[in-house]
Amino acid sequence: MFITFEGVDGAGKTTQVNRLAEYWRAQGREVVTTREPGGTELGITIRKLLLGHDDADEPIAPRTEALLFAADRAQHVAQIVRPALRRGAIVISDRYFDSSIAYQAGGRELGSQEVRELSMWATGGLVPMRTYLLDIDPAESHKRMIAPEDRMESTGDDFQQRTRRAFLAMAAQEPDRFLVVDATASEDEVAEQILSDNLMLSAF
Ligand code: C5P
Ligand code: MG
Repeated sequence: MFITFEGVDGAGKTTQVNRLAEYWRAQGREVVTTREPGGTELGITIRKLLLGHDDADEPIAPRTEALLFAADRAQHVAQIVRPALRRGAIVISDRYFDSSIAYQAGGRELGSQEVRELSMWATGGLVPMRTYLLDIDPAESHKRMIAPEDRMESTGDDFQQRTRRAFLAMAAQEPDRFLVVDATASEDEVAEQILSDNLMLSAF
């Protein structure tokens, strides 16, 4: 079972990934929790390039950015996700290709079809069984974030709003894969909604 969590920064993805993982581990299942960008050693290097880069000197071009995220994803799928799925593990990823469609197509305004095709090529067409979209107004989620902002998180409000809209548009297009959860609800309420959906899913 391959599950992904998506949403704007500060929506609570990491917390919910861990809560769902804890549930399945307590049931004795092997769970692999992972993330993008940075799910592998190579990915950590790519993550540093993407997030640590000083835009003032030499801004990363949108296509370069898209390719770096795709490179991270290709390695992540080949090295972590596919082998774990083959072993029968539950794989839960904090972001996956929908983030590229939201940020690089929605946010950076590249073509969403092209960005999607790039991801399909990078992953050999690996689509999650379920994607939980933790939906929240970025202006609201921004207030929750404690850590200093990285290069992406400090991109203006318009960018963040476009990203949110792109996520919601994808969820509307693929209602069978996505479950949109109101991320302004309490952590427990969000976890409960996700768990009850996940239990139904795993019953198949
Ligand atoms: O979720 P996480 O904080 O690890 O993501 C790192 C940063 O990369 C975030 O600020 C997010 O906005 C950005 N990002 C992006 N495009 C992606 C994935 C993440 O711009 N495809
Ligand atoms: Mg973040």
